[in-house]
Amino acid sequence: DTQREAVRAAAENVADRLEDEKEYLTDLDSAIGDADHGANMSRGFRAAADAVADADDAEPSDLVKQVGTTLISEVGGASGPLYGGSIMSASQTFAEDGITAETSVDFAEAYLDKVKDRGDARIGAKTMVDALTPAVHTYKKSIEQDDLPPLEALGKAVDAAERGVEFTVPIRAEKGRASYLGWRSVGHQDPGATSTLYIMEELLATAE
Ligand code: ADP
Ligand code: MG
Ligand code: MG
Repeated sequence: DTQREAVRAAAENVADRLEDEKEYLTDLDSAIGDADHGANMSRGFRAAADAVADADDAEPSDLVKQVGTTLISEVGGASGPLYGGSIMSASQTFAEDGITAETSVDFAEAYLDKVKDRGDARIGAKTMVDALTPAVHTYKKSIEQDDLPPLEALGKAVDAAERGVEFTVPIRAEKGRASYLGWRSVGHQDPGATSTLYIMEELLATAE
């Protein structure tokens, strides 16, 4: 099944990328957090990729769900439940029709909604929401209004996420550990927004 293979390949690519970026993500988190974001993300996605690697008869939605549940159990802190719980819950959008252009938009929106639900962070609070929100809106608009093929839409979404990551640098954190620093968080790039961008880049690279 090609969708099953695509989910597996995506999980593998994301795990490899986060392993490569482990030190950098940890550096970002050591400036405004507790220096564990690189370890959290690489450990979590390695376990998730392993978990889906040998689930032979699972539907794509079940595999995506398994990525989420594995992240929840492997990663604590803020990012475990935010990434894991939101992926788990949004995986439902693939249950009926599998992964299509349409359901991928539904997934992206459901994922963003869950992250905002769980984390209660508005745009501008210097979190992953700052990368995710413009990316999801751009993806939806590119597919639904501009009729772009999913691959091109995802490319535009990655560009939007990149601008979102840059937007986190000059602003003050209002959520998560970085918020304890108050104005001293200004001038630092948010780790979770950065890992969100890397994950999206790998989804794009897998689809290409
Ligand atoms: P922890 O802060 O528990 O050590 P991580 O270091 O793995 O967890 O993840 C930190 C990232 O989580 C932050 O950079 C930010 O993007 C994200 N984050 C933290 N709190 C929230 C929140 N309430 N809503 C959205 N994202 C958040
Ligand atoms: Mg941390
Ligand atoms: Mg921590």
